Amino acid sequence: MNKTIRPAQPSPQLYARRMQSGLYLDNEDGLQKRCACCGEHWPADTEFFQKRAGGDGLDSHCKDCRNTQTAIKKQERKHGYGNTH
Ligand SMILES: [Zn+2]
Repeated sequence: MNKTIRPAQPSPQLYARRMQSGLYLDNEDGLQKRCACCGEHWPADTEFFQKRAGGDGLDSHCKDCRNTQTAIKKQERKHGYGNTH
């Protein structure tokens, strides 16, 4: 019951760059970050992104996509598939 949610902590330069590129959205709901995988914006905190060293402190993929990718990778390994051409 002691779940601590940490917000993204980008440097001012990183923040400016990501706002410009559309990776960040900052509105009345707070700072949101676009997932590099599904392209959806999610609240930029550790509830939606895994904690990571460097950058803004958050993973570039949302937790949902991380889970999906892990699941897909497991399946690929199981069936012996590599890259599909
Ligand atoms: Zn995603």
